[in-house]
Amino acid sequence: MIELPPLVDQHCHGVLRTELGLGTFEAYLTQSGAPAAPGTTFFDTQTGFAVRRWCPPLLGLEPHCPPASYLARRRELGVLEAGRRLLRSTGIGTYLVDTGLLGDLTEPAELAAAGGAAAHEIVRLELLAEQVADTSGTADGFVANLAEAVHGAAQSAVGFSSVAGCRHGLALAPEPPGPGEVRRCAGRWLSGRPVAGRLTDPVLLRHLLWTAVATGLPLQLHAGVGDPDMRIDRTDPMLLTDFVRATAGLGTDVVLLHGYPYHRQAACLADVFPHVYADLGPALARTGSRARTVLAEALELAPFGKLLFSTGGQGLPELHVVGARLFHEALGRLLAEWVAEGVWSRTDAARIAGLIAAGNAHRVYGLEGRSDGGRGR
Ligand SMILES: [Zn+2]
Repeated sequence: MIELPPLVDQHCHGVLRTELGLGTFEAYLTQSGAPAAPGTTFFDTQTGFAVRRWCPPLLGLEPHCPPASYLARRRELGVLEAGRRLLRSTGIGTYLVDTGLLGDLTEPAELAAAGGAAAHEIVRLELLAEQVADTSGTADGFVANLAEAVHGAAQSAVGFSSVAGCRHGLALAPEPPGPGEVRRCAGRWLSGRPVAGRLTDPVLLRHLLWTAVATGLPLQLHAGVGDPDMRIDRTDPMLLTDFVRATAGLGTDVVLLHGYPYHRQAACLADVFPHVYADLGPALARTGSRARTVLAEALELAPFGKLLFSTGGQGLPELHVVGARLFHEALGRLLAEWVAEGVWSRTDAARIAGLIAAGNAHRVYGLEGRSDGGRGR
C-alpha cells in the first residue's frame, strides 16, 4: 500500500442516523431507486462484494461473511459505534459534505465527530432555491431572496454543487439568462409549484449556476450515473463544453463529479480547460474489483493536478469505507506498476498520489487557511 496523507473526500454526503434492516441497507448499495429484480440482490454487485470484503473485519467479523451476519453485528454495536469504527478506518481527514440530500442524514459536524475528522459544507443550489421558494411569495421576492441566500451560503460553505444534469440535463444554454427571463420563469414556477416542488426549469437552473459562479467558490456539477430519475444520455459532461468555455477566465473552478461512464470525457475537459477539475467519486465503489482500470482511464488524459479523490458516499458509512479503500488500493497498485516499468519515478509517484488524495483539493477549495469546521477527536 502506498503512503498517503490524510485524504480529503471532496464530495460526499451524511450517513443515516437510524438502525438499518437488510432491505434498507441493500437499497443504498445501488443508485437505482427501484428494488432488486425478483430472485436477485444488490449484494451481488461489485459494491456489495466490496462492502463484504472491507467492512466485516472493521466490526470484528471475517471478510466476506454473509450479509445477514454483518447486519446483525452492526445492530449489536449500534448505528453510532458502527459508524465510528467504519469512518475512523477510512484515512479521511477532511470531508466536504454536500448537504443537498433529503433524509435523516448526519450534518457535516456530526460526520466529522464520528469520523474524527474535519468537515466543511458544500451547498446544493437546487435545494437552496427550493427552500427560498418555500418562503417567497412573488417572483421578485424569490429572485432577491435567492441572490441573498447564495451570497450568504458562500460566507461559510467551501463550494456549491448542482444536480442540473439530473433535473434537466447538462445540455443547457451556456450564457446567463437575462433578468426578465429569470423573473418570468420564477413566476411561472412559483404559481404552478406544489408544496416542496422540485426545481427543473432550465432557465432557473442556469440562473442558479451563474449566481454561484459569481461567488468565485468552486462549483461541483454532477455528471454520469446518479439519481434514479435522471437520463444517463443527458449527463455526459461533454454537453457542458459551451458552459465551461463561457466560464473560462472568470476565476471560478468547475469540478465534474462522478463522471462514470463518461469519466474519460470529464478527464478530457479537465485537460483542455484550466478551471475544470474531475473526480471519480462513487465510480470506484461501484466498479469494485475493476476500480483500478477506471482510475487508469481517468489518468489517461486528466492532468495529475486536476483529478480529485472523493467517495461520493451517502447513507451508509460503508460507502465511505469502500470508496477510500478502493481508491487507496487502486492508486497504489497502478503507480507501483508504472514505477516497476520505469515509466514513473518512485518520487513522482508519491508526490502525485499525495496531490490526488488531498493536495489538489486543499488548493482548489483553499482548505489550508480555513478553520477545520468541527473536528471531533
Ligand atoms: Zn453526490
